[in-house]
Amino acid sequence: KSEKPSREVKTVCPYCGVGCGIYLGIRGDRIVSARGDPENPVNNGRLCVKGRFALNFVKNVERLGKPLIREDGEFKEVEWDEAISFIADKLSKYTGDEFAAIASAKCTNEENYLLQKFTRTVMKSNNIDHCARLCHAPSLVALSESLGSGAMTNSINELKHSNCILAIGTNTTETHPVIAYKVIEAVKNGSKLIVVNPTRIELVRHADIYLRNKPGTDVPLIMGMCKAILDENLINYKFIKEKTEGFESFKKYLYDLKWDEIESVTGIPRDDIREAAILYASSPTASIIYAMGITQHVNGTDNVFALSNLALLTGNLGRANTGINPLRGQNNVQGASDMGALPDLYPGYQSIDDAREKFEKKWQCKLPREKGVILLEIFENACKGKIKALYIMGENPILSEPDIKNVKKALETIEFLIVQDIFPTETSKFADVILPACSFAEKDGTFTNTERRVQLIRSAVRPPEDAKPDWWIICKIAEKMGAPGFEFENPREIFDEIREVVPAYKGISYNRLENGGIQWPCKSREDPGTDFLYKDGFTVENGRAKFILPSFRLFETPDKDYPFILITGRSLYQYHTRTMTSKIKGLGEFKDWKFLEMNPIDGEKLGVREGDFVLVKSRRGVVKTRVKFNEALMEGVTFMSFHFAPVNRLTSSVRDPLSGMPALKVSCVDLIPQ
Ligand code: SF4
Repeated sequence: KSEKPSREVKTVCPYCGVGCGIYLGIRGDRIVSARGDPENPVNNGRLCVKGRFALNFVKNVERLGKPLIREDGEFKEVEWDEAISFIADKLSKYTGDEFAAIASAKCTNEENYLLQKFTRTVMKSNNIDHCARLCHAPSLVALSESLGSGAMTNSINELKHSNCILAIGTNTTETHPVIAYKVIEAVKNGSKLIVVNPTRIELVRHADIYLRNKPGTDVPLIMGMCKAILDENLINYKFIKEKTEGFESFKKYLYDLKWDEIESVTGIPRDDIREAAILYASSPTASIIYAMGITQHVNGTDNVFALSNLALLTGNLGRANTGINPLRGQNNVQGASDMGALPDLYPGYQSIDDAREKFEKKWQCKLPREKGVILLEIFENACKGKIKALYIMGENPILSEPDIKNVKKALETIEFLIVQDIFPTETSKFADVILPACSFAEKDGTFTNTERRVQLIRSAVRPPEDAKPDWWIICKIAEKMGAPGFEFENPREIFDEIREVVPAYKGISYNRLENGGIQWPCKSREDPGTDFLYKDGFTVENGRAKFILPSFRLFETPDKDYPFILITGRSLYQYHTRTMTSKIKGLGEFKDWKFLEMNPIDGEKLGVREGDFVLVKSRRGVVKTRVKFNEALMEGVTFMSFHFAPVNRLTSSVRDPLSGMPALKVSCVDLIPQ
């Protein structure tokens, strides 16, 4: 029986990067309802199934409520004073590159800011990274280099007014449902939709053109579109002349491409590519949306360069309803990056080489000069004994990283491991100390959504037992270690420091956010924020956006030993490693997510029926699971959800040299019926 709330608290959904506004209905100290905030421009009152029905993990009995210290192999409950003293004492034995921290896209801006500040100022290390390394690191590298910023160029609501939307490498209805709703609304109002995806996803039903390319062949496909636009003389010469550089060498690159090769590599006839290119280029405004299908490859950065070239060629940047829009996965992955939870960049994407003096002055201490290591290197260096102490805030890398046997080895090797989370996780089993943190509903702070919108979250219920906000815990450890600069009483004070060091956040304040979210850059109190970037020119050094020649390579191709392609992805009904969604009983019943999906024709050839067990074997490892047929998949291509715990036994840590992104999306497997 549903209960009526006695009060409502306005906050933001803790799940995906769309950042929907929510009113939590509270009765006593319980969340009894959730409704979309009708005034929030992101969702206009809409919520997907997770935002509407999956928030009661907050009061789940398995929540961590007391600090735990491992003693003789067992965890014992202790008070905060003892836990903080223990950690401060242990951490004082390590310095510089012996220490690393993993920040979290599920935590607030304030908390990510503090963890990177702690790592740099107290531990004297730049070894700080977070899960953007596994999602949009290629976007940050490529778009910063070609345009000036790695963020979404335009806003979610502009999609509704775009004449043409190119959705490539994104299963938007599953991963960003409220954005998918806006795309479908746009189509109903006359926008054209081009979908590029190896899988016949839900959005294809609404598409004017569907290009089904072979997995991982986005560079040749997008360059084929550019070549067709050049052939058809649909290039925006005025825009190119006034605002870009590198066009002549890009033009030569396109002339040299061979249609026969494009067709054979992508599996798409040239006339279909040409038709999509003409539609995109001849539309008065065209937007690109993309997600992990573009980035999670060994050439993820080149894939993004290719998309940037396509938008530049047609002048679809710096105007409303256009742009190139990487859809961020987790709720605060944009914010964690903005806050400098990155090994080579301080808050606000300021290089550790160029901005060191500025931050030394602000933080009143000497800062380490050496660039830190990226996420996967943290585990590699731990295996080698170089990193001896690791602080993990709100992440579960034993499930989320590729090739997880190396992560397990690293966690076993590390001398001192702190895991700070809201639930015990598969990773916390390896910890020396487990610290109980507050969930989104038990603390104040800010999240920054995928369209650069900074929004307030508000405490609505009490945390379990002695759980504390992540920012409070970091401050207490720093204080105990005698470090100045962590005397914050509340997140508002932390945000005020963020505003001083991050130019794009300068004009944003808690007072202003009380009236609704603000999109960065926001440079003064009078600045309303920025709905689309590059209105006044690109923010690369000389102001001219760059055409960059992308290279193409595949991580693995099917052969006689590993004849099937395995794609990994997400489901609408689960989230990340399911730390939160596994506690919501009904979600698992909506859709089976723990299967290997394959085309029924492949099942017939292999002699397996739905429900049969198969061994899925890659060059890295083996997983045993049941088969489910899915006609939306190409023959020869299989799919496993990333929420299915051991799937990363199969994926590889081989990575994109430009961004450090591992080859998570596509690998080759053999299937052995059981
Ligand atoms: Fe939450 Fe994303 Fe669903 Fe919105 S679309 S309710 S932010 S999970």
